Amino acid sequence: MTKRDYYEILGVSKSASADEIKKAYRQRALKYHPDRNPGDKEAEEKFKEAAEAYEVLSDPDKKQRYDQFGHAGLGGAGGFSGGGMNMEDIFSHFGDIFGSHFGGGFGGGFGQRGPRQSKGSDLRIRVKLNLEEMMNGASKKVKIKRFKRAEGVTYKTCPTCQGSGYQTKIANTILGRMQTTTPCSNCQGNGKIADHIPPGANNQGLNKVEETVEIKIPAGVREGIQLQVSGKGNDAPFDGIPGDLLVLIDEEEDKDLKRDGNNLHYDLYISIPEAILGTTKEIPAVNNKMRIKIEKGTQSGKVLRLKGQGLPSLNSYGSGDLFVHVNVWTPDKLSKEQENMFEKLMKDENFKPHPSKNEKSFFEKVKEMFS
Ligand SMILES: [Zn+2]
Repeated sequence: MTKRDYYEILGVSKSASADEIKKAYRQRALKYHPDRNPGDKEAEEKFKEAAEAYEVLSDPDKKQRYDQFGHAGLGGAGGFSGGGMNMEDIFSHFGDIFGSHFGGGFGGGFGQRGPRQSKGSDLRIRVKLNLEEMMNGASKKVKIKRFKRAEGVTYKTCPTCQGSGYQTKIANTILGRMQTTTPCSNCQGNGKIADHIPPGANNQGLNKVEETVEIKIPAGVREGIQLQVSGKGNDAPFDGIPGDLLVLIDEEEDKDLKRDGNNLHYDLYISIPEAILGTTKEIPAVNNKMRIKIEKGTQSGKVLRLKGQGLPSLNSYGSGDLFVHVNVWTPDKLSKEQENMFEKLMKDENFKPHPSKNEKSFFEKVKEMFS
């Protein structure tokens, strides 16, 4: 089954603002809400589809990956994008969006909800990588500060919600009498609050500690990609699951090689005699130095392609190429003797440009490179 485009599902353009996306989602969520369409399977599917689209487009990181790679960009790390969302997920994530109309407490049709499984908050760090690390993959040790449950902390049932994690209100709305359920403000929906707090811990019974985390970085990552290390975010208060450590990749610019997607570009300078007589040159490819042959009579601007010497692609097989751009270096100072020699050569028929039909122009070469 091919997945529909998330922008199409919400009926917004790719340039829509966060507010427009939220508004579009809210409209659809209200239209297809199960309380309004009891037993209507099609409405339920539409409701889920809109939530999935919103889950991605409301998250700047996921949105960026989706914009760049489409659905394929969301595979693996996090999200509901693989298997779709269930109703519980939707209400626990986006309940606040239609909270004022429906709350989370919709008619009991989806079962009684207890205190939610609490999850600690995520941590974000940036990791700077050089070309070699992006090409080969890397293992990086980073120091992070995370909240960890303090030794000896005890918890008790929250007196405000009696452990349910929710506060329920009856409100009169334009849609009639509505039962509104919101997470308990005293325990943030956990159903428990810290009872005995060891010295040094915060009021949720958490301590800030420094830990070293090893991050495995796959080959082929690039600037802006976010990796997720499960469970290395902050601990949840009492028995929830810890949050995740989100690792944003920064690229360190290489002094020789310029990156363009999976391809690399290198500017090679050769002298006029080298261009005329031919030579061999060393190219600093990422993992090795490569010797390449410069043919006799090489024109300035010639591009040599070293297949497979670029970066591997993250999601599929194959690698990019390394393009060597040949520039002929012209000296700006000459001895009298050299000047005389070139004056003589200037009159020589052999030195007059006479590009043949086979000589490709710069524009043709660029076209060929990207076709
Ligand atoms: Zn409570």
